[in-house]
Amino acid sequence: MSKLEDYVITIPDFPKEGIMFRDVTGILEHQDGLKIATDELVKCLEGVEFDSVASVEARGFVFGAPVAYAMGKSFMMIRKRGKLPRETVSKEYELEYGKAVIEIHKDDIKPGQKIVIVDDVIATGGTFKAAIELLESVGAEVVKVLCLMELKGLNGREVLKDYDVDSLIQYEGK
Ligand code: AMP
Repeated sequence: MSKLEDYVITIPDFPKEGIMFRDVTGILEHQDGLKIATDELVKCLEGVEFDSVASVEARGFVFGAPVAYAMGKSFMMIRKRGKLPRETVSKEYELEYGKAVIEIHKDDIKPGQKIVIVDDVIATGGTFKAAIELLESVGAEVVKVLCLMELKGLNGREVLKDYDVDSLIQYEGK
């Protein structure tokens, strides 16, 4: 078991019965947690050519921004509806209950810009897929999808089969 995996706190039945919630605050509360996570994410990007890191609020920011910093890249904030002050493009997507909308500043992305998306968990893959479609709608090229934890039982990789997906920790179930 990697040290990072030891730091993840698993809470059964949160936020509802049957969900094993993988809590990243367990990583962040250790002095070396964010550093180990960032270093391991950066290692996954060896040899990848890209311009920027993008993450979806809020947990994605915690891990995406340090990766951008460590690699000397720009960072794009993909936010929930109504938070960004300039002209935005948006993407609506399905959640387990209801819908959500994510947005990015329209002029943040230049056509052909190569983006790595970083998040905490890939579950169904729906959030990553929405972020990819949002970025592609403004001409970006998503060259890698990277996360700390992957819940293999939810098959997110199938939804993202056309993309290069990497995760640091894999859980077999949901
Ligand atoms: P998804 O769109 O289904 O891939 O998951 C959306 C987001 O929900 C992920 O980026 C996580 O932040 C969060 N999430 C989903 N399932 C879990 C889980 N079991 N533990 C912790 N976070 C989760």
